[in-house]
Amino acid sequence: MTTASITTEKTEALRLTERINRIEPSATMAVVAEADKLRSQGIDVVDFGAGEPHFATPQHIKDAAIAAIQGNFTKYTAVAGTAELRDAIAHRHNVDFDSDYRREEVIASTGGKHALFNAIQVLVDHGDEVILPVPYWVSFKDIVRYAGGNCVLLESDESQGFRVTAEMVAQLITPRTKVIILNSPSNPSGAVMSAEDMTEVIRLAHQRGIWVLSDECYVYLNYAGKNFSVGALREYKERFVVLGSLSKTYAMTGWRLGYAMAPSAVVSAMAKLQSQSTSNPTSIVQKAAVAALKGPQECVEHMRREYIELRNHVVAGLRAIPGVRCTLPEGAFYAYPNISSFLGRGGLKSASDVAGRLLREAHVATVPGEGFGTSEHIRVSYATSKAELDRGLERMRKFFAAL
Ligand code: GLU
Repeated sequence: MTTASITTEKTEALRLTERINRIEPSATMAVVAEADKLRSQGIDVVDFGAGEPHFATPQHIKDAAIAAIQGNFTKYTAVAGTAELRDAIAHRHNVDFDSDYRREEVIASTGGKHALFNAIQVLVDHGDEVILPVPYWVSFKDIVRYAGGNCVLLESDESQGFRVTAEMVAQLITPRTKVIILNSPSNPSGAVMSAEDMTEVIRLAHQRGIWVLSDECYVYLNYAGKNFSVGALREYKERFVVLGSLSKTYAMTGWRLGYAMAPSAVVSAMAKLQSQSTSNPTSIVQKAAVAALKGPQECVEHMRREYIELRNHVVAGLRAIPGVRCTLPEGAFYAYPNISSFLGRGGLKSASDVAGRLLREAHVATVPGEGFGTSEHIRVSYATSKAELDRGLERMRKFFAAL
């Protein structure tokens, strides 16, 4: 499967910018496009590709959006989001994670990826080093490169469940380190960092004047222990940015509502950038987001419990395929099986080959590990029904058995 369809040669002729040639299209979005293409040809694809909840957005959230339309809440709002929404984001986080954010320290953006993009544009300059644990979510590397930064990759150990420790981070700090990215629970590995390790990284970063960007999009989907946000570490908060999203927590991927919580000067800089690009996130979505954050929270726990069952089911199913190894993810909704025993068989040279042929021949969409910085894995999103997991697992079993 190729993610980069635009060659440098072609873009040179077009005289596009050097910075756009520094990045690749999103590997997850490329799989979405390929699976859609097959579906449009009438092919029945089992989709373990893009990570998005299979649950419908809860009714009270949809009702709030409809009421916003009917009530003509359809005009521009403040760039960083309405006061009502920024307060609701801060309040929810303060209650759930013992943080102490205020409105001025919150910005709402058009999805978590947008908040991340803006934060990195504001914090990373040319030549800055950014410590990034591997496997990493597909967009971190390219967003850093777009800003001119250099990623310093932190290799984690599969036999330790890909867990990242403070000691591993400390070893990579240099005088050029500007930012450390943490993502716990991790997309794609599901690894959860201990609260102690996260605290130690924040403490170290604070001491050295380094920023920590903590992507906490899956913070409510932690199956290993108590949910923990670095936001709880109030005494260090002038050195970190918490990134979050409503996409996974409330099954709202298509609504595009993400946020960042950071020192007010960083939020102001992000708002300045946002004022020159998208302006406010959609007004109607902001009303829906307020309903999500202030309304009943039982839906969050309900989904979490179902994901645990699905995780156990998919990991057992993957481990039952001869030749596949799979660590137990402790959070998020991805399994990250190791398929290295098939490389070299049946003409398969890479994880991209495996994912590409799984899609074209077995009609199962997965994301190849290369997009996440490893070459021996594919990512399986298990945010789907048990029946769909079984259909996909059976196709995978047959595909691998035939190699
Ligand atoms: N959580 C989604 C995934 O990793 C995000 C998709 C994206 O924006 O790349 O599949």
